[in-house]
Amino acid sequence: MADRIVPFPPGVDRALIDKYSGSLPRYTSYPTVPHFLSTFDEKQYFAAHRRSMVARSPLGLYLHLPFCRSLCTYCACNRKITQSRDTIRRYLDYLKREIGLISPQIGRPVGRIHWGGGTPTYLTETEARELLDTLRCHFDVLPDASLNIEGDPRELPKSYLHALADMGFRRLSLGVQEFDQTVQETIGRIQPPELVERVVSDARTVGFERINFDLIYGLPYQSEDTTEQTLEHLRQMQPDSLSVFGYAHVPWMMKNQRLIPEDALPSPAERVALFLQLARGLEDAGYQPIGLDHFAAPGHPLLKGLKEGRLHRNFQGYTLNPDMEVLAFGVSAISQFRDAYAQNVKNFRSYYEAIDEGHLPIHRGINLTAEDQRRRFIINRLMCDLDVQKDTVEPAPPRPFDLHFKLALERLEPLARDGLIGLMKDRITVSPSGRLFIRHIASAFDAYLQRGTPTSEEPARQHASSL
Ligand code: SF4
Repeated sequence: MADRIVPFPPGVDRALIDKYSGSLPRYTSYPTVPHFLSTFDEKQYFAAHRRSMVARSPLGLYLHLPFCRSLCTYCACNRKITQSRDTIRRYLDYLKREIGLISPQIGRPVGRIHWGGGTPTYLTETEARELLDTLRCHFDVLPDASLNIEGDPRELPKSYLHALADMGFRRLSLGVQEFDQTVQETIGRIQPPELVERVVSDARTVGFERINFDLIYGLPYQSEDTTEQTLEHLRQMQPDSLSVFGYAHVPWMMKNQRLIPEDALPSPAERVALFLQLARGLEDAGYQPIGLDHFAAPGHPLLKGLKEGRLHRNFQGYTLNPDMEVLAFGVSAISQFRDAYAQNVKNFRSYYEAIDEGHLPIHRGINLTAEDQRRRFIINRLMCDLDVQKDTVEPAPPRPFDLHFKLALERLEPLARDGLIGLMKDRITVSPSGRLFIRHIASAFDAYLQRGTPTSEEPARQHASSL
């Protein structure tokens, strides 16, 4: 078995950065969301679930909790800023009704629950308990199910962490983003390092087993110095894992990002340098890189999964549960089945109207063809293992791999000449330099991207910078 731990390179040729900068999907799904179809409806939703029943493995549940107390200027999430508890209460009532519409048709146990947002920890303790009780009442949640929650350090007093641990949450993903004060002021998210450190310490004290930090590079005013400070704080706090995302500057889609001073944003080359500085510092501190943008401390289950080739990627990040389907609830949430995806409406009014009429609030979705599934397999392996062995592709292509994927291989040839990828007889392997360009490598297999996007805007405006 290939050694799947591939370190990031110390640096990358500027010419390669210029050549491969651009806008590409992050491939948390394939086909990607802009290619979902508005004709997908609840009949197809339940049919997709019935087809998935053969797997019999436990389900995952995702709840989208979109409320936040205040706006971060960099935010690209589907969220609603409110101080009104009535607004939140109303949404939670509808969320419970949506759960009630779906659960009677689902005959499988639940092995993982993930609350994302927005700011899930903006719920009061009572609201959180009621919501979890609703899930436990409607689904067969396994006693050892993993309960994960995304948290905002500004909304996590110790008593609240204690209550979450008491409910069974054991994994906490903290939106840290950046420690520097000037950057924090510019992005409208003031959370001093001491606050984050206190939350980490309290979370560990009350029983959280794994703490992840979300960090962002490419924010305004980030520099070599701010990154070095960040590394110093990380060495002290020692999160179990980190997700390091590139800031997606899409002000034509997210009006709040117009508040970001564009002249303070790092250039593509500076973004890459910041990321590599962070990656090097994390590797020096003992973390190992996973896929596109994750790092894990020694002993983390994801590293074991990586070495055993069991890693998978979905909307919630990297996971070890390949067959686990995810039923997603709430505005804009995306469910994933063995061979289909379905996304809910993004708009609150449409969400409430659909549920009032007794329908699932589905906005769009897609049933995957066999060809979609084999391309998804390849993209997944590249995104997780940085390697795909040609004879493992599922479902197996009707013709030999090189013939079936001739066009994709032709697209990869320039990347091979640039040393980013190895095109071997039996496999395709990403090199350390190619690690930074996985999205480009994966996109060679994206038949929808190559065909264009009849469902929405041109690709350059749908996706953020690929570097
Ligand atoms: S970045 Fe997170 S906390 Fe800030 S507004 Fe967006 S969803 Fe809310």
